[in-house]
Amino acid sequence: MSKSAQALASRTLQSLMLKRFGMAVFTYFLAMALGTVAFIYNHLEIPLSNFLLLNAGVVISQLVFLGLFLSGRNLLFQDPSLTEPQVLVGLVLQTLSLSMLDDARGPMLIMYVLILMFGVFQLRPKVFVRCAIVAFIGFAGLNIVEAYNLKLSRPELAVLEVCVLSVALAWLSLFASYVHSMRQRMRQRRFALQAHQDTLRGMMRQLEDLASTDELTGLFNRRHFLNIASRELSSLRRGHKHGLALIDLDHFKRINDIHGHASGDRVLQTFASVAQTCLRDGDVVARYGGEEFVLLLPDTEPDHFVACCERLREAFSRAEPLGIKVDNLSLSIGMTLLEMGDDLDEALHRADQALYQAKRTGRNRCAAAWASADA
Ligand code: GH3
Ligand code: MG
Ligand code: MG
Repeated sequence: MSKSAQALASRTLQSLMLKRFGMAVFTYFLAMALGTVAFIYNHLEIPLSNFLLLNAGVVISQLVFLGLFLSGRNLLFQDPSLTEPQVLVGLVLQTLSLSMLDDARGPMLIMYVLILMFGVFQLRPKVFVRCAIVAFIGFAGLNIVEAYNLKLSRPELAVLEVCVLSVALAWLSLFASYVHSMRQRMRQRRFALQAHQDTLRGMMRQLEDLASTDELTGLFNRRHFLNIASRELSSLRRGHKHGLALIDLDHFKRINDIHGHASGDRVLQTFASVAQTCLRDGDVVARYGGEEFVLLLPDTEPDHFVACCERLREAFSRAEPLGIKVDNLSLSIGMTLLEMGDDLDEALHRADQALYQAKRTGRNRCAAAWASADA
């Protein structure tokens, strides 16, 4: 993954974590509102100062988390979502607030479930069970301490509440482990799918290469060349020109007849390597068919184009195909220029006429058929 993609992914993740934190804060806000109602209706057996202290604890703990998220320090932790610490803080605050309640504890037990739900999709099963145990120890411990201090007004109700909480915690733990294994399975499937996609992409690339390349010379084939040429032609701006040339090896049939077809193939390959050495990046040469080749020089001037074709012609005449001795290697070239609004077929026809001219006037030469003002 590139650095910018990584930065984007990290920003997206950070904003997702902030959203989840916002949800937690909203839940605290609702819990504080409920606490206030309980306080107003005298369900809290504490003075106002303790109630305010508890609320201050909530606010401070959440400000600490907010600071961590906003400063990006959460990223220094193994789990940057800080789910486990958030759940643990929630459980401690919940147990503290229950310790201030009278008989109204029962309905408030649901808050344990709510806090733990926050970790169901995020925490590993082991960590989730750890949090559930903290919740259980907190609530059971609270009741034991109160029983020990003879403060428990209805012990049978407390036992029932501890049992209900145990069942809810056990069920939640099982659910969390089910969610975790389901997510693992989905992740594996996603990886497998990605691997298949990569293989498919690779095969597509291979197929594209095969479909666009001439097997013998390794050059582009005619179809691919025509695609490139049409694309280049359509992006041609006014006042700019592309050079288009048809190249035909001279007396090639004779080479085949004298040295054999395999040697003829070698000469075609020799042309391909000479052309690739002679031309610049961006120039396009392709096998047009048989012993004919085609050349496109994007954004060129007539003088430069002619010089380039001459250079190619001379380089080929000096070439020495590996393993065979062929005298008088030569080729003829028909050149034309492509201008904005030109028709590719017409331009190819012009180049063919020029090639015919080069052949007729003695071969081993370049001839031009410029469209208009370039003549
Ligand atoms: P000219 O100078 O007028 O172009 O004459 P030429 O002999 O080059 O042209 P002609 O069209 O008479 O012959 C072309 C020969 O190219 C005929 C054909 O057998 C041969 N040829 C076409 N494709 C291949 C190939 O892939 N390998 C080999 N070895 N020969 C090929
Ligand atoms: Mg020919
Ligand atoms: Mg020929």
